[in-house]
Amino acid sequence: MPHKEYFKEPVVRFEVDRSRFPKVCVVCGRPAIDYVRLTLVENRRYNAGWVDRLYMRPRDLISRPSKSVHLPVCSDHQFTSEDYCRLRLICIVGMVIVGSVALTGYLKIGGSIASGMSIPTWALVSVGLFLVTLALANYALRPRGVEAAFRVIGHDPTFTHIIVDIENQEFRDRFLEENPGTAELVRWILRP
Ligand SMILES: [Zn+2]
Repeated sequence: MPHKEYFKEPVVRFEVDRSRFPKVCVVCGRPAIDYVRLTLVENRRYNAGWVDRLYMRPRDLISRPSKSVHLPVCSDHQFTSEDYCRLRLICIVGMVIVGSVALTGYLKIGGSIASGMSIPTWALVSVGLFLVTLALANYALRPRGVEAAFRVIGHDPTFTHIIVDIENQEFRDRFLEENPGTAELVRWILRP
């Protein structure tokens, strides 16, 4: 049954092909130097959702309707999904390798303390290295700036209109101002 979904903060409904983004970063509002392409692929469960293309099977990409938008970004926020995927993979592989060495080191430190011997340097270094890897992984696995700033809520079957929650209010207002007639604020949408 279709039902209405209401939003506390109004969201933006815009016509994808006839709207232009302001030339400022969608995340922080500083002057944009580049564009990030985000691909929206139809998702039956949520009606809309950002999908990392690396995680998609090619069959899905071809068979499902999809739409790309190009979002203006500054130098701090120009990472794409692919960049983050690569960084994540490196972090996970690194954590497994460093983690197993660190575990051996940790056990060695415990053993050395228990038996009153001096702690070997490699054991300390391995544990320290693991902590650094953890910090890096924390950075790599945090939510992506662009996707959090431009959260897609829904779309119509033909992807003519997309409904998004734009976190940066200044960007949102400017986008609305520069696209009268093709972008509007809405307070509720109809979910199928
Ligand atoms: Zn930025």
